[in-house]
Amino acid sequence: NETADPVSEDMEPPPLAGPNVMNIILVAAECAPWSKTGGLGDVAGSLPKALARRGHRVMVVAPRYGNYAEAQQIGERKRYKVDGQDHEVSYFQAYIDGVDFVFIDSPMFRHIENNIYGGNRVDILKRMVLFCKAAVEGRGPVDDFSFVDLPPHYIDLFKLYDPLGGDHFNIFAAGLKTADRVVTVSHGYAWELKTSEGGWGLHNIINEMDWKLRGIVNGIDTKEWSPQYDVHLKSDGYTNYSLENLQTGKAQCKEAFQRELGLPVHPNVPLLGFIGRLDHQKGVDLIAEAVPWLMGQDVQLVMLGTGRQDLEQMLRQFEGQHRDKIRGWVGFSVKMAHRITAASDILLMPSRFEPCGLNQLYAMSYGTIPVVHAVGGLRDTVEPFDPFNNTGLGWTFDSAEANKLINALGYCLMTYRQYKESWEGIQRRGMTKDLSWDNAARNYEEVLVAAKYQW
Ligand code: ADP
Repeated sequence: NETADPVSEDMEPPPLAGPNVMNIILVAAECAPWSKTGGLGDVAGSLPKALARRGHRVMVVAPRYGNYAEAQQIGERKRYKVDGQDHEVSYFQAYIDGVDFVFIDSPMFRHIENNIYGGNRVDILKRMVLFCKAAVEGRGPVDDFSFVDLPPHYIDLFKLYDPLGGDHFNIFAAGLKTADRVVTVSHGYAWELKTSEGGWGLHNIINEMDWKLRGIVNGIDTKEWSPQYDVHLKSDGYTNYSLENLQTGKAQCKEAFQRELGLPVHPNVPLLGFIGRLDHQKGVDLIAEAVPWLMGQDVQLVMLGTGRQDLEQMLRQFEGQHRDKIRGWVGFSVKMAHRITAASDILLMPSRFEPCGLNQLYAMSYGTIPVVHAVGGLRDTVEPFDPFNNTGLGWTFDSAEANKLINALGYCLMTYRQYKESWEGIQRRGMTKDLSWDNAARNYEEVLVAAKYQW
């Protein structure tokens, strides 16, 4: 079988990508062994298989330049306009070595064989425009409805309209349309879901059902996450603390933490923490961009997380380059998460989007001051500090950019160093705020009762 990748003979399928498993689509004008003018064809034919071996779900989309024996036609047909003319395409599919190969069929591509970039400039352009339009279709066709085993009249519920590709199949759309009520984990995120930027393509449906949408901020488990009872603060020099002994208790935790991680023990150097999945969503790269500026400051930084391998590598690298200031802990450790929350002065949360976010809530209840991107649940829960009225719970910045983070952090560090009273005020307000589940549970109850009586 000339299409089989030789490595697949003794293919071991452990999902090495771990928590990072992704849906990956590779779109290319050529794909070996079916079509190839050069290295692009080889790469499009073999890289996807290697990604699949690492546990990812991988699809390749290429034009169908000839008759490919392995690929079967699927029902889907689509029309796209190129230069004012309608072109009908159909799709062929082959599943080989863990990869879904999809070939787009059109008279435009047939008989080209290996003269892929042949013809005049405009011919090539039109061919590639059609290819790109048809490749974007790569999502579930409405025909997928046949797999959900429901009577035919339910089909409309599953249709999601996309101005580029028409109707396609979407289970989430059906869930939203049929639910009596829809709850998301903050008001801010409920609002963002109604915008085209934040709505995952579902914003039109969400706008139509606005009346049944409600945002309810999560609570925190105050047994597990309270500085007073935290079991991870009972050993190794840490201590439980509360409002009564906040300054001495927190200082002791910071010292124990600096010792545990081998950082210089400095009570007055602000300790910054980050905890979370290492992912584009969480804005880890914004912290990375701010590191050169940060390293010019008298601060310590600890980052705990797992996720994208390049970001894990980056954490290790930061620690290697700045051993006196940075710890990059790659791993999932509940104990470490608790200790970072207790020991840090400041918690960074520059998430690009955040439905609710829990770490900022934990931080506030431990007298650790959050610096967050004002988005979703972060905007709802971290009221910005107002030095004139002495209100607020932390610092926020209004767009996911490193210079905005630096700016907010600059004010935060200045307050830490020069305005101890303001600092303690923010800590106290955070620690006394009711972040328990009791509020949220009451709100959920209201939603359920309203659904029951259909208010
Ligand atoms: P998300 O659900 O988007 O991951 P949240 O802030 O809502 O973000 O919740 C993340 C939870 O996972 C928090 O309890 C956080 O402490 C925990 N967490 C994330 N990464 C780690 C880690 N590497 N080690 C321990 N706990 C972690």
